[in-house]
Amino acid sequence: MKNIVILGSTGSIGTQTLEIVRENPDLKVIAVAAGSNVARMEEQIREFHPRYAVMWSEESAKDLKERVSDVQVQILSGMEGLIEISVLPEVEVLVTAIVGMIGIRPTIAAIEHGKTIALANKETLVTAGHIIMPLAVRKNVKIYPVDSEHSAIFQSLNGENPERISKILLTASGGPFRGKKREELVNMTVEDALHHPNWSMGRKITIDSATLVNKGLEVMEAKWLFGVDLDRIQVVVQPQSIIHSMVEFVDGGIMAELGAPDMKLPIQYALFYPDRRPMKGKRVNFYDLARITFEEPDKETFRGLQLAFDAATAGGSMPTVLNAANERAVAMFLDKKIRFLEIAEIIEAAMQEHKVISNPNVEQILQTEASVYEFIDAHFAK
Ligand code: NDP
Repeated sequence: MKNIVILGSTGSIGTQTLEIVRENPDLKVIAVAAGSNVARMEEQIREFHPRYAVMWSEESAKDLKERVSDVQVQILSGMEGLIEISVLPEVEVLVTAIVGMIGIRPTIAAIEHGKTIALANKETLVTAGHIIMPLAVRKNVKIYPVDSEHSAIFQSLNGENPERISKILLTASGGPFRGKKREELVNMTVEDALHHPNWSMGRKITIDSATLVNKGLEVMEAKWLFGVDLDRIQVVVQPQSIIHSMVEFVDGGIMAELGAPDMKLPIQYALFYPDRRPMKGKRVNFYDLARITFEEPDKETFRGLQLAFDAATAGGSMPTVLNAANERAVAMFLDKKIRFLEIAEIIEAAMQEHKVISNPNVEQILQTEASVYEFIDAHFAK
């Protein structure tokens, strides 16, 4: 039996993780956590019988407690609750399927307690990779990627010597606006941006895919996970999302992982590595597919990708600025308070305002996040 905890159990990755639990009786969910979706949390408690459930606000926790008063489950709240369930002695794997920088502290706590991490929450590595990766090495903790691109890279590295990597080829679908120019993006609505051609994901990451900021965050995630310099990570647009990423080695050989676009595969791979379990679902039919195509990303139109490279190059606290500004700007866009192209403009303004702190600690990362929010609220709130 493998005991797991899911942070963000009510979201896109969280619910797909639970689908895998449903198919694999040797996985046991010990604890789950969510923001405010009390109704879905109640369903999950009744189906999966976790010992603990965490809601972010005390109010939601109280509501949940009343709803499941007939069930044996301990209800916790806030950051304290998230950390408490991330370090439970009986737990082997923490699935970080929460969205945003809120995942930093629980992830660090789990690593300190020797838990294996199945990592979806890329914002944690983007902002605190310099703390998390050395800590994982010191604690001999494994971090298995859940992001499909990083899982593909991880799979392509099976049995290979990481020192023989020549470059990482990080594939991108290009998102719903691939091929469009800036003037066509001016009036793109939330509904247009949420319409991803290949992947069904949470709202924030779907917008990040439309701006290509997601790809920029993934570049930084890859840098930390695989210890490869930025100039050896190349983004390649592969619109069919069949190749999930590739690794080129020093002899020119390239390994890739291919498959139908389905997040359950990388989630399951992270949960059972090095084993592969049978999985229902779509398969690639190469006769139907007929062709796989490649393009260079348009960094001029999709400024967010260039800004992410700039933030990664500046290093220190700058990736936090990019990430925090993006989180706030995407929330404003989803609330229809700003236009699509303003997301990148806000990120750029926040980056220009910031003086880099090299090697920031967790406190400084969180202070940077708060000051970015203040800056945006002061200059862009409508
Ligand atoms: P969703 O928005 O679908 O889900 C987010 C989850 O986090 C929900 O369960 C939400 O709870 C919970 N949550 C949000 N805020 C808090 C909080 N303050 N405290 C506790 N829980 C909270 O996101 P996704 O599943 O799409 O993405 C999750 C992470 O995985 C992100 O970092 C994303 O970049 C990454 N990822 C996602 C992929 C995908 O296919 N979806 C692919 C690769 C990476 P509630 O429902 O109550 O709001």
